[in-house]
Amino acid sequence: MFKIRFRPYTLNLKYVFRISRGERLSTPLLLTAIDYEGVTGYGEASMPPLYGESQDSAINFIKKVDLSGFNDPFDIDSMMQYVDSVEPGNTAAKASIDIALHDIAGKIAKKPVYKLFDLPGLESVATSRTISIDKPDIIKERTKEAKDFQILKIKMGSINDREVMEAVKSVSDVPLYVDANQGWKEKSLALDNIHWLKEHGVVFVEQPMPIDMKDEMAWLKDKSPLPIVGDESIQRLTDVERADDFYHGINIKLVKSTGLNEGLKMAKLAKDKGLKVMLGCMSETSCLISAAFQLASLADWIDLDGNLGVTNNPYQGIETINGKLINNDVPGIGLINPELSWENITKR
Ligand code: MG
Repeated sequence: MFKIRFRPYTLNLKYVFRISRGERLSTPLLLTAIDYEGVTGYGEASMPPLYGESQDSAINFIKKVDLSGFNDPFDIDSMMQYVDSVEPGNTAAKASIDIALHDIAGKIAKKPVYKLFDLPGLESVATSRTISIDKPDIIKERTKEAKDFQILKIKMGSINDREVMEAVKSVSDVPLYVDANQGWKEKSLALDNIHWLKEHGVVFVEQPMPIDMKDEMAWLKDKSPLPIVGDESIQRLTDVERADDFYHGINIKLVKSTGLNEGLKMAKLAKDKGLKVMLGCMSETSCLISAAFQLASLADWIDLDGNLGVTNNPYQGIETINGKLINNDVPGIGLINPELSWENITKR
């Protein structure tokens, strides 16, 4: 019998996180644990308010989920089909269940999840470190702090894009990813910006324009001198089917995809369609980061730094050393002694 437990948890950020659509100093989470025949799997929902979920909505959703009709811990596809049918939306809450189920399956099989998926093992993989929108002197400081990273991801889409770039370039010459978070509202402005970014060593641009500006995005995709990656536009598997009309690549995040089961399908479909695959994250603990790492061999670009800029990450899992996530080959999603962390979380 599967039994779900959960705890609301507020993840505190070290610095204000500012993008083109708002700012915050903490992120609400719902941490989950699922027990099955003496094995416990751990999961997590990270819910930045912009995406519409909350701790209350996630708790309400999980209370409606009844896994008592299921007995095969390896048939996660059937369980997630059922979970998805309980109510629309709630993708982060669904992901928290999916991840805990994969953790259980890996622990029973005594394999890390990437091996359950028949994916190759990676010793380590470089991640970008995100620099959020700020005043130039603060951006310089953050860029210097990120000196161990071989790639930086710069948030743009505000009025000071040029200042941001100058500030970063004055202290670093690593390759850059740029994320405009829908901030450029005019197609020729977006194209001008992308030409300018190319001259500054930018590798690709994420979500340059608003998600409802489809015709403009298709126009921009044809003309852009840099690859364009869909993030807010690409939530789930059905979004990948037409993604190549608008984007050269997609950003898969487990809290959007409802977890690993559908995230894996999205990555495979994207590759079949010749799209680039980026693995991304929210502000989150080592639980979601370690789970996402299991798909790393399918990704062209890794942006899994959401556990680094936080002050109260309760879990230990896949670690980041010198800008690289290091595989630990721990069975399941890769958390180390999560039951001790869960006890501490419960004591709060
Ligand atoms: Mg993004």
